[in-house]
Amino acid sequence: MLPLMSLKGRHHGVRLWTRIGVDSPSLGCSVATWAITTAAPGADRNKDDTVIKSNKDILLNSSAPFGGPAMNRRQVIGTALAGLAATALPGLPAWAQPADKTVDVLLIGGGIMSATLGIWLNELEPNWSITMLERLDGVALESSNGWNNAGTGHSALAELNYTPEDDKGNVHINAAVQINESFQISRQFWASQVRRGVLKNPRSFINSTPHMSFVWGDDNIEFLRKRHEALKASPLFAGMEFSTDRAQIAKWVPLMMEGRDPGQAIAATWSPLGTDVDFGEITRQFVAHLKTQPNFSLQLSSEVEDITRNADGSWRVTYSDLKGDAGERFVDAKFVFIGGGGGALHLLQKTGIPEGEDYAGFPVGGSFLVNENPSVTVQHLAKAYGKASVGAPPMSVPHLDTRYFDNKRVVLFGPFATFSTKFLKDGSYLDLMTSVTLENIWPMLDVGAEQFDLVKYLAGQLMLSDADRLAALREYYPQAKGEEWRLWQAGQRVQIIKRDKEGGGTLKLGTEIVSAQDGSIAALLGASPGASTAAPIMLSVLEKVFKDKVATPEWQAKIREIVPSYGVKLNGNPDMVQQEWTDTSEQLQLASALPTIDPAAYGPAPANAGAPAPSGVVKQVPDIAP
Ligand SMILES: Cc1cc2nc3c(=O)[nH]c(=O)nc-3n(C[C@H](O)[C@H](O)[C@H](O)COP(=O)(O)OP(=O)(O)OC[C@H]3O[C@@H](n4cnc5c(N)ncnc54)[C@H](O)[C@@H]3O)c2cc1C
Repeated sequence: MLPLMSLKGRHHGVRLWTRIGVDSPSLGCSVATWAITTAAPGADRNKDDTVIKSNKDILLNSSAPFGGPAMNRRQVIGTALAGLAATALPGLPAWAQPADKTVDVLLIGGGIMSATLGIWLNELEPNWSITMLERLDGVALESSNGWNNAGTGHSALAELNYTPEDDKGNVHINAAVQINESFQISRQFWASQVRRGVLKNPRSFINSTPHMSFVWGDDNIEFLRKRHEALKASPLFAGMEFSTDRAQIAKWVPLMMEGRDPGQAIAATWSPLGTDVDFGEITRQFVAHLKTQPNFSLQLSSEVEDITRNADGSWRVTYSDLKGDAGERFVDAKFVFIGGGGGALHLLQKTGIPEGEDYAGFPVGGSFLVNENPSVTVQHLAKAYGKASVGAPPMSVPHLDTRYFDNKRVVLFGPFATFSTKFLKDGSYLDLMTSVTLENIWPMLDVGAEQFDLVKYLAGQLMLSDADRLAALREYYPQAKGEEWRLWQAGQRVQIIKRDKEGGGTLKLGTEIVSAQDGSIAALLGASPGASTAAPIMLSVLEKVFKDKVATPEWQAKIREIVPSYGVKLNGNPDMVQQEWTDTSEQLQLASALPTIDPAAYGPAPANAGAPAPSGVVKQVPDIAP
C-alpha cells in the first residue's frame, strides 16, 4: 500500500518564527491534509482534540501499534485522498515517500535518557526493533557528557534547595525523600546492569564521594541544624553527621578550612553515601551494549527535522544525514521517544500534539572552574554544596567538587550561570526565538515579569570577571590560587515554562514527561535533578506510555528483577534500605563504609515522609526543584 498521509496532530498553533515553510508538507501538499488541518484553527480545545482523540474513540480496525489507536473515519478519507494525491504528484512530499525503515521504537538523541530507555526496553522486550538517531558524530556529547554537568548523583544529601523552610521555621523534607528514593532506583538499575555485564568496571562511572552541605552565618547554621534534625526521620539519610567543630570539618575537607577566618561561624553536614557519577561514561557503555544487539541500530550525524503522524497512528520521522549526501531520510516508528535534551522542545512542537502546546523553554548554561593539580585534588574528597543566592536556579548552587574522569581526580568549582539563546551547547543562536509560538509567548512573558530575581541573578552572573569568580571560589577554598584554575563552559539546560490554567506561565525547575494521549510518542523536558534519575524517569515513561505492558506479570517480574524495591516506598522500610545499600554498594564497588540503620529508630512509615507537620507556608524559594 502507498505510504500514508501526514496527519499533524493539531495545527492551529502557529509558531511565530520560521514555521511556515518548515511545516509546509502538512499545510499545503494535498487537499486531504488541508482538509484535516483546517478543522483545527479557531476550534476550541475539546473539539480540536478530537482530531487526535478520535484515533482512539472511533476504531475502525485494530492494527495499531502496541494495541494503540487505529484509523478513524476522517483519517480513512484522508488516507484515500492522500493516496490519490501521492500517485498524481511527481515530486512526493515527505509523508508520501516510502520509509527507509520501519521500527518499533525510535529514540531521538544519544544522551543518557534515550540510552537508559533503550536498555530498559531491550531487557523488557528484546525482540522490539530500536533505532537511535543522534545529530552529532558520537553519543553523550551534549549535557550527559561528564564535562558538561556536575556529575552529582543527586540524592538530596547535600543540596539545600530540596529542603525548603516554611514560615514557621519547619524544614520540609518531602522533596528530599522523593529525590533520594529516585536515586536508589538508579543505583539498583546500574547495579543490575553491572551484574548483566552491560556496565563494566564501576570505577569508570561511579565513585564514592561524600556529600556535604557547608554554610556560614548564624541563620544558615540554624537552618542546617534543623535540616539535619528533620532528615533523621528518614532511614534514607542515616549516617549523616552535623558539625560546627572546625577541627572535625577540617578532617572532612582540609582545603576548605586552611586559611579560613577563625572568627567565621560555620557548620557542615557530611554523608558517606554520596557519589560522583560520569553520566557520559554510562551513556557510552549503554549504547555500546545496545549496538551488540541484533535489533538495535545507531545512526550518528542524523538530525531529526520533522515528526508527523501517519494515518495508522505511527510516526513519520524525517531526518537529515549530515555526513552523507542522502538528503532527507524517513523512519516510521510505532513509538517515538524524544530524548533530545535541550532540543526536545522544538521536536515536541513539530509533533503538533496538543499536550506540547503548554510548554516554552528558557536556557541557562553553566561554567565551572577546573583544577587538575594533583597536589590540590588529592586534598579534597567531597562534593561540598553551599547555599544558593536568591533567584539562582538549582544548577547554580555553588559547590566544590571532587570529579573522576578517566581514572583521574580533578576539582571543579561552580557552576556560574551563563546565558545563551542556544538550547544545546552545539545548538543555534536562533533556538530561543524559534521556540516561541502563539500559545507559549504569553506564559514566557509572564514568567519573565514574575521571575525578576532570576533575571537579576543571571544578569549579575554575566557581568562576573575572573576576579569575581576567584573571590566566589575563595569563600569555599580560601587559599585557592587563580593561576591553577581554568574556566570551562559546561552544558545548556532548558528550564520549563508551563502555561497555567489562567494562560499565564510558571517556571518549573524539574523534569516533565510530555506524551500524546495514545502513548505513541513521549518527550522529556526540563532540567533537574537530571541524569541521576534517568533510570526512574525512564521507568515513569514506560508506566505512562506502556501502561498495559507494565501491568503484565512478565514485565512486572522483569522490572522487579532489575529494581528489587520497585513499588515499595523505601523511606518506610529501613531493612530494605539497608539491604539495597549493601547490594548496590557491592555491585557498584563503592568504597565508603555504609552506615548501619537501626530499624527501631524509625517506626511505621510516616504519612508525610517524615516532614514536620506541614502547618506553615513554605517560603517562596525560587530554586526549589519540585
Ligand atoms: C551545567 C550542568 C550541570 C548539571 N549537573 C548535573 C548533576 O550534577 N547531576 C545530574 O544528575 N544532572 C546534572 N545535569 C543535568 C544532566 O546533564 C541532564 O539532565 C542530562 O544529561 C540530560 O540527558 P538527555 O539525554 O536528556 O540530554 P543530552 O545529554 O543533552 O542528550 C540529548 C541528545 O539529543 C541530541 N539531539 C538534540 N536534537 C536532536 C535532533 N534534532 N536530532 C537528533 N539528535 C538530537 C543531542 O545532540 C544530544 O546528544 C546538569 C546539566 C548541566 C547543563
